[in-house]
Amino acid sequence: MTLQEIIDNSKNIVFFGGAGVSTESGIPDFRSVDGLYNQQYDYPPEEILSNTFFYNNTKEFYRFYKAKMLCDAKPNMAHIKLAELEKAGKLSAIVTQNIDGLHQLAGSKCVYEIHGTTQKNYCTRCKKFFSSDYIKNSDEVPMCDECGSIIKPDVVLYEEALDNDTVNGAVDAISKADCLIVAGTSLTVYPAAGFIRYFRGKYFVIINKSETGADSSADLVIRRPVGEVLSEIIVS
Ligand code: ZN
Repeated sequence: MTLQEIIDNSKNIVFFGGAGVSTESGIPDFRSVDGLYNQQYDYPPEEILSNTFFYNNTKEFYRFYKAKMLCDAKPNMAHIKLAELEKAGKLSAIVTQNIDGLHQLAGSKCVYEIHGTTQKNYCTRCKKFFSSDYIKNSDEVPMCDECGSIIKPDVVLYEEALDNDTVNGAVDAISKADCLIVAGTSLTVYPAAGFIRYFRGKYFVIINKSETGADSSADLVIRRPVGEVLSEIIVS
């Protein structure tokens, strides 16, 4: 069966996406290119993006965060096509490991961002909301304009737990789906592999440039860029 046939035969698709969904928008997978950053930063990304580092080295955290995590990227064909599928009533939810907010920018409504989002930021004391532009335009460490405390992005940092409601929503959507499309992730890192175990539907599709840990259990495996593959889908 082709991906088009599977989509035509499905009514309740859930899309589970990883870093590979956003690379076509020019957002690098920071986990796979940390060699690049070692030249500019004294710490590896996974150390900078930890809760301890945020509070102990807030200035250095934001130097990295603003340069590498806040970029002016635009949705690519993967984001656009998924928003179309939701609008057409074919897709019920997107579960994403990305924090760039590009699915919402493309028009998707039901998006479970299991690692949070750079688009939401809150004062650590009074919880006031700030946009990513406010963070971008602040000098060094962004401070709350109400109470003067540090602002923290609503991104799940290393050492932090995933948000329970988001996880439950994602698991619920996956368990009710008739088709699960996993894309742009090798499924080797937590929690991706755990989430897909809840799928009980008919069609399990993997779109990823390299081999994944679940290829053998998939009904269809496509080894091409996600945006390229989804751009060919006709939404009816
Ligand atoms: Zn405040």
